Amino acid sequence: MNATIVVLGGDGIGPEVTREAVRVLQAVADAFGHEFHFVEHLIGGCAIDAHGTALPDETLAACQQADAVLLGAVGGPKWDDPTAPVRPEQGLLGLRKALGLFANLRPVTLFPALVDASPLKRHIVEGVNLVVVRELTGGIYFGPRQEPTDGTAYDTMLYTGPEVARVVRLAGEIARRRRRRVTSVDKANVLASSRLWRHVVTHIMAEEFPDVQLEHLLVDAAAMHLLRRPADFDVIVTGNMFGDILTDEAAMLAGSLGMLPSASLGESGPGLYEPVHGSAPDIAGQGIANPIGAILSAALLLRYSLNLEQEARCVEEAVRQALAQGLRTADIARPNETPVATEVLGTQVADLVPSSIAKVDQ
Ligand code: NAD
Repeated sequence: MNATIVVLGGDGIGPEVTREAVRVLQAVADAFGHEFHFVEHLIGGCAIDAHGTALPDETLAACQQADAVLLGAVGGPKWDDPTAPVRPEQGLLGLRKALGLFANLRPVTLFPALVDASPLKRHIVEGVNLVVVRELTGGIYFGPRQEPTDGTAYDTMLYTGPEVARVVRLAGEIARRRRRRVTSVDKANVLASSRLWRHVVTHIMAEEFPDVQLEHLLVDAAAMHLLRRPADFDVIVTGNMFGDILTDEAAMLAGSLGMLPSASLGESGPGLYEPVHGSAPDIAGQGIANPIGAILSAALLLRYSLNLEQEARCVEEAVRQALAQGLRTADIARPNETPVATEVLGTQVADLVPSSIAKVDQ
């Protein structure tokens, strides 16, 4: 396969972790005979410094023409003035909007070697392998609102049937590649928008995904079950605000922010793949950042934008093996372990890609 991948390193540790993800993607290309063309562009604070805007026209044009976009992180103390007219996160928000990305996927996998890094007990977190599909462009964050005036303010949770249907279809498709279970999360006992959500989910799943098991949970119960029985979940689909909160809760299960990947997908066009963490200015430039969130984002890129499932599994298997061999960056190292540098972990994952092929074939 021939594919063009735009790489937006961004700020802080962004370029340090995307460099390792590109190294792993190149190893995949070499092992499987693909041609990946990597094109680097600026976004965020570094783009403001160079061009006075967080999303230069040439960056956006390159992303729109690409097969997929791999992003590091944007922001940092240098551009932190909340009153500044141009800010790094405008680059990310502008890109999400321009690419029409309506769903955010956050897989949470607990690698066996890191069971003890989770704040939850081993018998609860063992086997956690779930993905949260969050609606990204509707709901209360985008509904009509009134800013506080005369002691009153409101926000409106507004959803239309088609907005719910497209994200549910995506969740159904993802479940078909996994364990075929979807949990839809809402607050249908109180909110009218949630009753619409539940109605559409029930209809679409019954009509289009009869082979996928469906359960409905109220968001308060879902928050509890995520801590009580996280390994039972496969695909969780939910609205914008509930997803925002539940993804942060689910993130804690994996042990470190540095481990978590994400994908943002639209109806067509390139997807955007980025680690969940930010630019981590406190450790930037030291070569100690955990590259696994970025590397697992590259695995999602292979799976969802390039439809290369076997290659995606190889990357995940290579990460699993590198961790099983004891390689850990400082954020996941135990007190008796010597941490390795970002580049050492990235290189080892890349080196393990060819031998992972046989393992995922089994
Ligand atoms: P952060 O995720 O950058 O860092 C939080 C903590 O986690 C820090 O102690 C950091 O060292 C650690 N950490 C994060 N990623 C790590 C990794 N890969 N390896 C090891 N440790 C890691 O969040 P923050 O400190 O709240 O934000 C810092 C900057 O990043 C801010 O400017 C913020 O606006 C920006 N930010 C950007 C994004 C994005 O680009 N998507 C997301 C969140 C925050």
